Amino acid sequence: MKIKILEESDEKLTFVADEINPSFANALRRAMMGEVPALAIDEVDIHENSSALYNEVLSHRLALVPLAFDPKKVNIREECVCEGKGCVECQVVLVLKKEGPCTVYTKDLKSSDEDVKPLYDSMPLVMLLEGQKVELEATARLGRGREHAKWQAAVASYKYYPKVTIKPGLPEEDAKKILDVCPTNVFERSGRGARVANELACILCDACVEASPQYVEVKGDETKFVFRVETVCGLKPEQIVSLALENIEAKAKELEEKVSEYA
Ligand SMILES: [Zn+2]
Repeated sequence: MKIKILEESDEKLTFVADEINPSFANALRRAMMGEVPALAIDEVDIHENSSALYNEVLSHRLALVPLAFDPKKVNIREECVCEGKGCVECQVVLVLKKEGPCTVYTKDLKSSDEDVKPLYDSMPLVMLLEGQKVELEATARLGRGREHAKWQAAVASYKYYPKVTIKPGLPEEDAKKILDVCPTNVFERSGRGARVANELACILCDACVEASPQYVEVKGDETKFVFRVETVCGLKPEQIVSLALENIEAKAKELEEKVSEYA
């Protein structure tokens, strides 16, 4: 597999993966969304809540707070040395204690682990009026997106690498039509005709092919894919891609071992 990075930031990664096939592309997408472990609040022990939000609603909001963490330092509870009972190796406690009048923000969650804290400081959790109080202890643990959406590490998608061709002799009328109809501005004016200016922007909608079926051809390459990965947890997008690939590799190994038992 050949990888070419098109765009990279702390939140998003766009890359081209070449020399793969549709099944693998989909396996990678699913692993990024469902198999990469992320940290989220899973249990909330509420000591006091006189805010306008019900305990359930407040807990639900807490569960969706993205938490920064080091994937090497937190174990998955089921695979931990504590055998799933829960210990400092596999869970992190965050304490919240606030009294109104004020707005409670994610920064008010005090973590017991210096590596773990809310990714964003200023997400509002609840508003407190004069005399209202919230006091709680939240336990965060690692989980996978396939178990619950709060543990989903990324929003990942891919498309076939587009190949857009304009055949020679495109009439002026057709050129106007395709320039007009393309929703992502793949084409640009060139004299009286049109030419392909931004092939990668093509979303394979075939609107241009319908506008000029004789002269325009759009194909998706089945061995080359454009991936977009946006992190929705404390991991960087490139970490999510590597962890997803490790997951696929581990599963393939497991399958190989199981099959060899019968060989
Ligand atoms: Zn443990």
